[in-house]
Amino acid sequence: MALERTFSIIKPDATARNLTGKINAMIEAAGLRIVAQKRVRLSKAAAEGFYAVHSERPFFNDLVSFMISGPVVVQVLEGENAIAKYREVMGATNPENAAEGTIRKTFAESIEANSVHGSDAPETAAQEIHYFFSDLEIVG
Ligand code: UDP
Repeated sequence: MALERTFSIIKPDATARNLTGKINAMIEAAGLRIVAQKRVRLSKAAAEGFYAVHSERPFFNDLVSFMISGPVVVQVLEGENAIAKYREVMGATNPENAAEGTIRKTFAESIEANSVHGSDAPETAAQEIHYFFSDLEIVG
């Protein structure tokens, strides 16, 4: 399979605990390359836009509040089968259901404060990458 790119966020619960380096080490150990990265503070509008697909869900307002509660690190990851591979490295949404050794099993605090985001399909990966990065900022 050809190289693929996915979009990742290290969420506020993880930046608050200074876990960016530890999470990046797990990403790199899985064979994924961090080809773009920046630390940002999301505006409410940016967080609402990013999670627009969830706007009707009961957890939406709390999720937006959480995502703007502190800095996040947004990233583009590149590798063979990067989208599925990163979902594996992340683990299940609810850390109680996440497999041993995954980022969420190791670090997540709750189903909401679950340390990382990763795209779930090629279309969403492309859309999410371009929500935060221009092509010039991605260096493969
Ligand atoms: N989330 C939440 N409560 C829920 C389900 C999800 O707070 O019951 C949050 C959680 O931070 C999750 C995000 O909403 O990562 C997006 O949910 P999704 O179902 O897309 O999970 P993911 O793809 O992140 O595993």
